[in-house]
Amino acid sequence: MSSDVQSPRQLFYDGEIKSATSGKSFQTLNPSNANTLADIHIASNADVDAAIASADRAFPSWSQTPPAARARILQKAVALLRERNDEIARVESLDSGKAYTETSTVDVLSGADVLEYYANFIGGGGLNGETTQLREDAWVYSNKAALGVCAGIGAWNYPIQIALWKSAPCLAAGNTMIYKPSEYTPLHAQTLAEIYREAGLPAGVFNVVYGAGDVGSYLTSHPTIAKVSFTGQVSTGLKVAGSAAGRMKYVTMELGGKSPLIILPDAELDNAVNGAMMANFYSTGQVCTNGTRVFVPRGWKEAFEKRLLEQVEHVRPGPLFDEATNFGPLSSAIHQEKVTEYIRHGIETDKAKLLYGGLGKPSLPKDLENGYWVRPTVFTDCRDNMKIVKDEIFGPVMSILYYDTVEEAVRRANNTELGLAAGVFTKDINQAHRIIGQLQAGITWINTWGESPAEMAVGGWKKSGLGVENGRKGIEAWLQNKSTLVDMSGTVPTVFAKL
Ligand code: NDP
Repeated sequence: MSSDVQSPRQLFYDGEIKSATSGKSFQTLNPSNANTLADIHIASNADVDAAIASADRAFPSWSQTPPAARARILQKAVALLRERNDEIARVESLDSGKAYTETSTVDVLSGADVLEYYANFIGGGGLNGETTQLREDAWVYSNKAALGVCAGIGAWNYPIQIALWKSAPCLAAGNTMIYKPSEYTPLHAQTLAEIYREAGLPAGVFNVVYGAGDVGSYLTSHPTIAKVSFTGQVSTGLKVAGSAAGRMKYVTMELGGKSPLIILPDAELDNAVNGAMMANFYSTGQVCTNGTRVFVPRGWKEAFEKRLLEQVEHVRPGPLFDEATNFGPLSSAIHQEKVTEYIRHGIETDKAKLLYGGLGKPSLPKDLENGYWVRPTVFTDCRDNMKIVKDEIFGPVMSILYYDTVEEAVRRANNTELGLAAGVFTKDINQAHRIIGQLQAGITWINTWGESPAEMAVGGWKKSGLGVENGRKGIEAWLQNKSTLVDMSGTVPTVFAKL
């Protein structure tokens, strides 16, 4: 038995680990070598009901806890997360297949940053309402109230970060949460629940259930759930949002993208190539905001491709815990098959020109041969109507699209049903802002790609989502407004007086 094997995961509610009553479980695997990591017990409907009941019981007291007291608990959890960064990152690498060089520097910390941001926000009076003097003897005041029991549904690409980006504003606002991680990357959820408990979070405020889409569906459509915060594919998001709308639940939807990265003719070549590399190969391309449609001036073709081919040699697949490794496997066998089919389609059906990579696995040590690896792949001279250019692949597959005029590049960039991210590389700051103003996306970058700090509200336009996470706007989605008009005149006007 390898030392990577983890303890089985049961459910977590009422402040403790609970056995699942379904009698069913699934296994989570290490994507780099396909070895089994742990048994995960699946929640039955009765278990989900019990977890929701525990969150419902905890809500009145937690929502009435003064924000400064809630902030102290969340700050303690931040300190524990930072203290245990390396050990959590290690499990995150095993579960998701991401290189430890990434998980140890980004995944846990970028989640803890958001928790710290919202703890500071509420501790500093961020939940205060407004007061308006309407006339001499009348006032309006408004408060922000928590929503109730909320559901958080996570995707597999940034497991603990997603769990924190959802639970941080949810709990800071005074709500309680049932969180269901993706079945492909469930290991972080219990760790987070235990850290919250150790920090002093009362029983029932943060709870975890495991299972696939059917468990997610039962949870999100449950009548007690006031809000659903979902991260995943557009197709699943449409179903979940539809079901929530039918029951008048609040939703936040963080869905997929096929984002355009536009390089202008005056951009600096090395920066543009580095930006395109980060926007396609970081996390093995499994980033929702990836800039997979790279628009390049036609006159740049030779220089851009030459420099890109030099840079792509620095993509280093390898053992997850090797300091040199900067490229892991895909997260699961099913995802590897999907991405491979897209690469095959690009070559055989779209007939795109393959500049680098292609089918098959990169060269790897023998003990990694069973893992879900693909090669970083670049197609060039792509056309807008190719399937590889239209669909979100969610893997390390870059499409280069040449353009003649900037107006044409912007028009083509916007020609998609998705609108998650977009960006431009140029030295001309006026032109940069003009183009950003025209791009139809909720997250945009100028001369950089991918950074998503706690202060920055992020969310998609069009079919890429609803609402935002992070920043001051992010917490509004976890609150409801109550406005009160106070009349001190001592008389109640009426139109029903006797004539
Ligand atoms: P999925 O849509 O397949 O799954 C997302 C989550 O929803 C999983 O926990 C899944 O469970 C669960 N689920 C599946 N069916 C249902 C249902 N009917 N009701 C409720 N929950 C359900 O997405 P992936 O996990 O494949 O994630 C990749 C996608 O996430 C990409 O499209 C990516 O762009 C997007 N994403 C968006 C981000 C953003 O911020 N905009 C950030 C990160 C990713 P299970 O997996 O256990 O079956």
